[in-house]
Amino acid sequence: MAVPWLHEMSWPEVEAYLQEKDIVLLPVGSTEQHARHAPLGTDTFIAARLAEEAGQQADVVCAPPLHFGWSPHHMVLPGTISIEAPILQGLVFQIVKSLAHHGFRRFVLVNGHRIANLPWLQLAAEQAQRELGVRVVIFDPAFMQKEIVPALGFGKVGHAEEIETSQLMHLRPELVRIDLAVDSEPHPQALYEPDPNFAGDTLCYVPSTLAQMERVARTTGGSTGQPSKADAALGQRLHAHLVKRLGQVISQL
Ligand SMILES: [Zn+2]
Repeated sequence: MAVPWLHEMSWPEVEAYLQEKDIVLLPVGSTEQHARHAPLGTDTFIAARLAEEAGQQADVVCAPPLHFGWSPHHMVLPGTISIEAPILQGLVFQIVKSLAHHGFRRFVLVNGHRIANLPWLQLAAEQAQRELGVRVVIFDPAFMQKEIVPALGFGKVGHAEEIETSQLMHLRPELVRIDLAVDSEPHPQALYEPDPNFAGDTLCYVPSTLAQMERVARTTGGSTGQPSKADAALGQRLHAHLVKRLGQVISQL
């Protein structure tokens, strides 16, 4: 299948696909500030390309990317669009419900906005499985890159840090202004670490307060981490790892 995007197919093509398969990928991102060096669509671009490449390799269709996520903490900088989580849960449920109506039964939610999107994606997935009798899994880079991030020399998951900046430099180099990237000093908080790969004991993730984010905006322009260490070749290796993992998820579903 040359074109995996549902919205680039005609309905007879979708009908023919459903004769063979019942699986669909749904990329979910955000429109939120990614400091001065990366675009607001970073999370969506990453999720969409992961879905597109894995979909092409596995001959699996991709639903149109959802460009909006839960980003209340990023409202301190212009351009960010934050949708309330219950609305997002309902929106993804409605997308799954529509596609299930036509015969899709297996869904992979490909998340580009990492831990901030997960609470409502999990609720939407559970609701869909319970009410519609479909199967839904969530593919999240922050959990699916654990095995490769140390080898690439990246630090912790932050925001617009070297991890996602590297991946975007590989995917959309024309959109990254790495000369504008500003690194931040780590500000450890007692018993709290937002990186899901952190080995120690930690409280769970809660989006930062606006006061905390205003401090980040003032010091780095909106990033946390070491984005100046971003590198397109490392981003290519990270991206290839994630596409391979997504392919495994598709084949096991
Ligand atoms: Zn991001």
